[in-house]
Amino acid sequence: MTTTTTPADELTPGAPLTVLTEEEQMFQQSVRDFAIEKIRPLVPSMDRDAAMSKELIKSFFELGIMGVEVPEQWGGAGSTFFTAVLIVEELSHVDASCGVLVDVQNTLVNNALIRWGSDDQKSKYLAMLTSDTVGAYALSEAGSGSDAFALATRAEDRGDSWVLNGQKLWITNAAEAGVFIVFANANPDAGYKGITAFIVERDFPGFTVGKKEDKTGIRASSTCELILEDCRVPKENVLGEPGKGYKIAIETLNEGRIGIGAQMLGVARGALEYAIAYTKERRQFGQTVASFQGVQFQIAQAATDLEAARLMVYNAARLKDAGKPFLREAAMAKLFSSQVAEKVTSLSVQLYGGNGYTKEYPVEKFWRDSKVGQIYEGTSNMQLGTIAKTILTDRL
Ligand SMILES: Cc1cc2nc3c(=O)[nH]c(=O)nc-3n(C[C@H](O)[C@H](O)[C@H](O)COP(=O)(O)OP(=O)(O)OC[C@H]3O[C@@H](n4cnc5c(N)ncnc54)[C@H](O)[C@@H]3O)c2cc1C
Repeated sequence: MTTTTTPADELTPGAPLTVLTEEEQMFQQSVRDFAIEKIRPLVPSMDRDAAMSKELIKSFFELGIMGVEVPEQWGGAGSTFFTAVLIVEELSHVDASCGVLVDVQNTLVNNALIRWGSDDQKSKYLAMLTSDTVGAYALSEAGSGSDAFALATRAEDRGDSWVLNGQKLWITNAAEAGVFIVFANANPDAGYKGITAFIVERDFPGFTVGKKEDKTGIRASSTCELILEDCRVPKENVLGEPGKGYKIAIETLNEGRIGIGAQMLGVARGALEYAIAYTKERRQFGQTVASFQGVQFQIAQAATDLEAARLMVYNAARLKDAGKPFLREAAMAKLFSSQVAEKVTSLSVQLYGGNGYTKEYPVEKFWRDSKVGQIYEGTSNMQLGTIAKTILTDRL
């Protein structure tokens, strides 16, 4: 990848998307080095055991990448959304599970608290989330995935506290998390306008983390069920206002999917780097595989797809930081980047030949890790729906 830096902190208007500020370059380089030196050796065992290294999580806090956008007064790095996106790409080019752990923390959990948290909630929870506590974001249920607002978890106002009942499914980071943003309906008669967001601590009475999924890819990232049985949540732990949870869910996910675009960009890049190195070594017909024009064209096409995905992801992130509309660009970036990831990782397996199809070599894992990009934070069809709506408006 080719990026250049600007000497100043601010980008010149009109600067190419891949020109980075000094701060962005610093984060990119330090996370890249960390990922290669410290994460890469652990990748095969974390994937095999479906377990995230506790030491790595500790290091993420020490590196300051668990609170990228959190203002310094609450212990964060006070940086930008774009920086968070760069970090997710760098982690994911080595391991997509580490990428999504940091992504959910920053783009969903911290972002929701920064934007909708009260001063007391920020002081308490952002301080935890930037120092030692992993966060999770719990919207999906067995009966509500794409149709997220059909959620069946209920919240009842009991005067001094709320009582939550229901089950969540597919919750990333749940095995490690200490703080959960949980969506429940406090007024089902009002439909989606009853949905309310709650900050739930792991040790609140009535809250349990249930079964962990045995997944195809991102195996070191925990994905669990949550059980809420008369779970008591203090009155002050409503995030935003009662009935405004749908807005929090929509808006955080609109941003979050740029992060998933970055994760998929990293996955595609990681696989392609391995494939390029392998084809330059592997010899058939008396020459390296990379010397065949047919293979060169495949690699050139993959690099071009990757560049297009990168520009889409970076542009969506820059638009978000600039306070400009980014809904369509974010949906397009996630849609395209996840398609590119599946295509490029599949090609990488292909270019390794039989070796690519074994666990002895790293590319099959990238292939497995790529698929989820088309499923979570809104499936590809949901992204297409969003894009279509913004293009076709209401004049059908
Ligand atoms: C590894 C993993 C981690 C996850 N992490 C989280 C998390 O941290 N927090 C959380 O809340 N959720 C999480 N999810 C849940 C994820 O967001 C949902 O799986 C996703 O939204 C899809 O919902 P579903 O699985 O119920 O599929 P469904 O909604 O049942 O979709 C099935 C198929 O139908 C298609 N479809 C559905 N409706 C339409 C339509 N209207 N038009 C066209 N096609 C349609 C879909 O595109 C899909 O192909 C995670 C999921 C996975 C796999």
